[in-house]
Amino acid sequence: MTSNWEPVVGIEVHVQLATRSKIFSTTSVEFGAAPNVRANLIDLAMPGALPVLNEEAVTMAVKFGLAINAEIAETCVFDRKNYFYPDLPKGYQISQFDSPIVGRGQLAVLLEDGSVREIGITRAHLEEDAGKSVHDRFAESTGIDLNRAGTPLLEIVTEPDMRSAAEAAACFRQIHSLVSWLDICDGNLAEGSMRCDANVSVRKVGDETFGERTEIKNINSFRFVERALNYEIERQIDVLERGGEIVRETRQYDADRDVTLSMRSKELSDDYRYFPDPDLLPLRLSSTFLETVRSTMPELPEQKLERFVSDYTLAPPVAVRLTRDHNIATFYESTVELGADPQQSANWLLGEVAAALNREERDYSDVPVSPKQLADLIARIQDKTLSSSLAKEVFERIWSSDDPVDEIIERRGLRQLSDVEELRALIQRIIEEHPDQVEQVRGGATKVLGYLIGQVMKASQGKADPRQVNELLKGMLNI
Ligand code: ADP
Ligand code: MG
Repeated sequence: MTSNWEPVVGIEVHVQLATRSKIFSTTSVEFGAAPNVRANLIDLAMPGALPVLNEEAVTMAVKFGLAINAEIAETCVFDRKNYFYPDLPKGYQISQFDSPIVGRGQLAVLLEDGSVREIGITRAHLEEDAGKSVHDRFAESTGIDLNRAGTPLLEIVTEPDMRSAAEAAACFRQIHSLVSWLDICDGNLAEGSMRCDANVSVRKVGDETFGERTEIKNINSFRFVERALNYEIERQIDVLERGGEIVRETRQYDADRDVTLSMRSKELSDDYRYFPDPDLLPLRLSSTFLETVRSTMPELPEQKLERFVSDYTLAPPVAVRLTRDHNIATFYESTVELGADPQQSANWLLGEVAAALNREERDYSDVPVSPKQLADLIARIQDKTLSSSLAKEVFERIWSSDDPVDEIIERRGLRQLSDVEELRALIQRIIEEHPDQVEQVRGGATKVLGYLIGQVMKASQGKADPRQVNELLKGMLNI
């Protein structure tokens, strides 16, 4: 039924900027304070209080703009967006309307299948956050916590360039990874540091124009973006196929029931009576300021990716995975700079390290192993001190301690058994203990050879190199 319909999606992402203080006042933005202790006269817009723009927030917005190759406005304006809501006692939000700080740009979004899609960024503007209504604290009433009022946000708006729920989720993920990379947002979705509004419409495949859209507000996980959109796409198709019409409205995603529900009809920008905030002058960005910000830009993921491919001769898909996140890229580079083999380092980071992090639900910002430990471990594999099974054992040890690799190997006697005479003696013993199996191997049963190798490995407590055992055993059995 869905085959001849095409979804169209554009998202708006609110990114909480990781400044120390609010966007127009010196109040701290630290998370977790008691209600209403972090809102001063400016945050509440008491009469006569004057907002002063926080330069750190401007710097962060510019960093984002440079990273997506956008035009940065020489002059931009702060507007008042007027509306009434209990968590906004001042009656307006300071935002940017027709003159945002960041203009059109481009974001390369990495899709699940490893391909990349260029998504247009319409704009990104600075604004302040509102307070919070607290519904679960008092039985009969709603509490208001204004600590969040005035927290700097960068609202990033994409073009309606996505054609599936999965692409939209990937785009949200990419924005998350980029703002974390740039160190302008802590990326903590659970604490609300990033929220996504997803706009979606459907049209018949081949149609030139877009259909009417709905907007799903405030989604705070990648998975929920995908699920909410999939539900909404099906719902819209269903309505249209029954001959109904899509109403322009704001909807809400209920994750427990996995449905979207109508919240209110969509307000139009006219409803907000935007006008330039008379308390704030237009913001002019000098070329010196832009140059200063440019000089602090880190190497971007695409640049790092290209360099990993050319400097370390990594396969592009491997380099993609290593540059998906700033922490993993940094860890990788530190390991290689300590002399570890680039290919082995990639294998370990994307293999054992990734699996162990996964098991413990940690991420690459929180790897309990140091690059030095990993580099030493790889060096001991390459100089054949460690077999692959011993290496795994050492890896488990360094995961839970800061001890140097060589110390662990010495202390636990984990050195690989590569002394040929010692190995021969061990193999001889196994041959003598298993006359039946030896007979079968001589008769051509290769599976049984594997069994004997296993016995030798076991007797060596995993310290022998299986390949070497294989060679020696064959030699000693004359096969
Ligand atoms: P608004 O004024 O409602 O915020 P915008 O024009 O700023 O509307 O668009 C908001 C978001 O909706 C953007 O991300 C844009 O890409 C997306 N969008 C616009 N039109 C459509 C459409 N027909 N279908 C899906 N998304 C759309
Ligand atoms: Mg909008």
